[in-house]
Amino acid sequence: MTSLAPTPPRAIIDQFGRRLTYLRVSVTDACNLRCVYCMPEDMTFRPRHELMTDEEIMTIVRLMAELGITKVRLTGGEPTIRPRIVEIVRQIARIPGIRDLAMTTNAILLAQLAEPLARAGLQRVNISLDTLDPKKFRFITRRGDLSQVWAGIEAAEAAGLKPLKLNVVVTRGFNDGEVVDLAKLTLDRDWDVRFIELMPFGSEAEFAQTAVVRAAEIRERIEAALGPMHPVPGHDPRDPARPYRLMGARGTLGFINSISEPFCSACNRLRLTADGKLRLCLLRDGEFDILTPLRAGMPLDELKQAVWDAAYTKPWGHGLPEGIIPQSRLMNQIGG
Ligand code: SAM
Ligand code: SF4
Repeated sequence: MTSLAPTPPRAIIDQFGRRLTYLRVSVTDACNLRCVYCMPEDMTFRPRHELMTDEEIMTIVRLMAELGITKVRLTGGEPTIRPRIVEIVRQIARIPGIRDLAMTTNAILLAQLAEPLARAGLQRVNISLDTLDPKKFRFITRRGDLSQVWAGIEAAEAAGLKPLKLNVVVTRGFNDGEVVDLAKLTLDRDWDVRFIELMPFGSEAEFAQTAVVRAAEIRERIEAALGPMHPVPGHDPRDPARPYRLMGARGTLGFINSISEPFCSACNRLRLTADGKLRLCLLRDGEFDILTPLRAGMPLDELKQAVWDAAYTKPWGHGLPEGIIPQSRLMNQIGG
């Protein structure tokens, strides 16, 4: 195939001129929870041989760093259940060019892992917390214990994993009545609470479409109860959640409105699935298989060129407004 890239490839600038510097790496599709909006209760996970080995993860992340990736976020499934996750963090933190290393986690195991992860080079965590009610937490996650999440949050703070971001997926009938209480967390804590619009994937799409709560409604509810919120200056336009602050609050509020206000023009992301596919857009099925040619022994320079070519074709935006719903994977199989 003729390469589209000027030689040799360095930074990835896609066909729309977006510089791609951020890689989200899913280290497993498996999880210790079964959140209702993410996967079915009887979800089966991939066999181990289909997942990237530790070494393969390092090879691919190193290759991506050579292509200008500077920021890596580890995700899953639940990244903390991957064996040797601390060692994986330590090795990624040492890759030249990687300046920002973060993780998205449900925090169930963070009480034990926050400190070793921080010592290994993890800089920040985003923690998923949809409710303050232990019974509702068990219901949404189909098995979780909220006290473990709180212990994980405390451990993350004690380990210096800051700024701490809390991700709240708002689901009608489950936790939409709690958005004000969750927003109140920012009044006396320097946390960034971010409300995420529910997105549709494959077999779980119907649920997401009926239970989605638009950001505008969440904001109205918060402002009606707690007063106006003001934009925080100095926002990085590549961050999908523009931060706001309630009067006198220590922390900030953000809204990730993938459905009602897509941020595709500023998207700088690529995703690496746990089975070694480069996913070009969270909400489109197009992927480039890196793991198969790597296992087949393709020389790394050739592979790098092929990755560059694939990333160049990153689509402009998602097709949800036209009714195009990603079918090939559920959220735990992509990493969010
Ligand atoms: N297990 C980790 C966690 O829950 O934080 C990391 C993986 S999880 C797939 C990443 C993020 O995606 C979480 O914040 C989760 O709440 C969110 N998420 C899962 N399914 C979603 C959906 N259908 N729409 C929007 N966000 C979703
Ligand atoms: Fe697991 Fe995260 Fe999906 Fe919940 S959202 S089931 S914690 S991967």
